[in-house]
Amino acid sequence: MNVIFDIAVIGGGNMGCGAAIRLAEGGMRTIILEQGDIGQGASGVNAGTLSLQIKRVKLMPYAIKGHEEWQNMGAEVGFHKTGGYTLAFNDREAELLYERMTLKKEAGANISFVSDKELIEKEPALARKVVAASYCGDDGYANSLLSGQYYRKKIKQSGISFLEKFKVIQIRENSDGFEISSGGQTVVAKRLLLACGGWMKDIAAMIGADLPINARINTVSVTERAPRLLNSIIGHATGLLTMKQKENGTVLIGGGWQGKGTPEQGRGNVSLETLIPNLQLAKFALPKLSKIRIVRSWTGFEANVPDFYPLAGRLANKENVFVLGCVRGGYTIGPYISKLMGDYILGRQPEMPLFDPSRDFK
Ligand SMILES: Cc1cc2nc3c(=O)[nH]c(=O)nc-3n(C[C@H](O)[C@H](O)[C@H](O)COP(=O)(O)OP(=O)(O)OC[C@H]3O[C@@H](n4cnc5c(N)ncnc54)[C@H](O)[C@@H]3O)c2cc1C
Repeated sequence: MNVIFDIAVIGGGNMGCGAAIRLAEGGMRTIILEQGDIGQGASGVNAGTLSLQIKRVKLMPYAIKGHEEWQNMGAEVGFHKTGGYTLAFNDREAELLYERMTLKKEAGANISFVSDKELIEKEPALARKVVAASYCGDDGYANSLLSGQYYRKKIKQSGISFLEKFKVIQIRENSDGFEISSGGQTVVAKRLLLACGGWMKDIAAMIGADLPINARINTVSVTERAPRLLNSIIGHATGLLTMKQKENGTVLIGGGWQGKGTPEQGRGNVSLETLIPNLQLAKFALPKLSKIRIVRSWTGFEANVPDFYPLAGRLANKENVFVLGCVRGGYTIGPYISKLMGDYILGRQPEMPLFDPSRDFK
């Protein structure tokens, strides 16, 4: 006879794994169903930037807690607390920087505005074109290539069942709960947590929910190894650039520039129309990049809804279906919000409010 799980988590990214661990700790018999390998979706291809300066004001308390989680995971996920600078290159950007960073500071982020002198002392390779800069000592990065391995180890230790290469193609409700099928195999669970990132809309549709989700396709590039150029995370006032130099000397360049493709087609493709301005902005900020080769650019999918806040809660009219995703800066916030989600499903009061997936998005 088939095992009936207390909950099936669809999606083995940071959100799904983090929530599953909490649920298993709370005594639920839990299974993760993942179409590929654990931690190989957005959670395994992102830029790894953990920056409070690029988080939305309302999400700041979640991001601060997320930073604490990453700090606790430490070397196993390649965590580095480097501090980070956000740069403005003209007066309009400086105004934007002051406006945004002041609000983020008021929301609890440890952000200050710094002088040219301090910036040049700390980051001498940056272009001398900066008109204003902010600093956050809590910013840093983790290595997204390592976090899947980390979560795989943790879910094994927590006694969670998981099936990889299990692409959910059908969900049927029955008296036991849900029959979740990949074609060849079926899993039965009393509850569902949808944590399927950029693929969320289609999976939600399988149980009749029409969520206003759009998939975004972000681009990241990495250079060859270079002599030390940067000590901190670097961002831009518009949010269109992130840079960090890893310990091995490679520079990782991101900023949310959009590639091409849809989640159904796989990871999507880099678009030269957006890659070139992304790299030009990076080179403008760090001129020495012009002598260093880009060795790889790639894309990955994340999802968002019209108000750009997370989906984290129970689906309307579906007592036993929960959704977790669409979190901007979800790598940073994931390890924390997934615990909150786990607590909610376990019937506990989460430490911070969740985000109703059935709210009015207008
Ligand atoms: C290129 C890129 C760069 C980013 N950079 C940053 C950054 O620097 N800092 C930051 O904080 N955030 C960043 N993000 C955002 C962050 O990576 C995501 O918000 C976060 O990883 C989302 O986690 P998740 O678990 O919701 O999604 P995912 O990690 O995508 O996990 C969802 C999982 O669901 C699985 N799945 C989907 N459909 C099915 C199905 N039918 N059956 C079974 N399994 C299924 C997928 O295979 C996937 O593994 C970036 C995102 C991208 C794409």
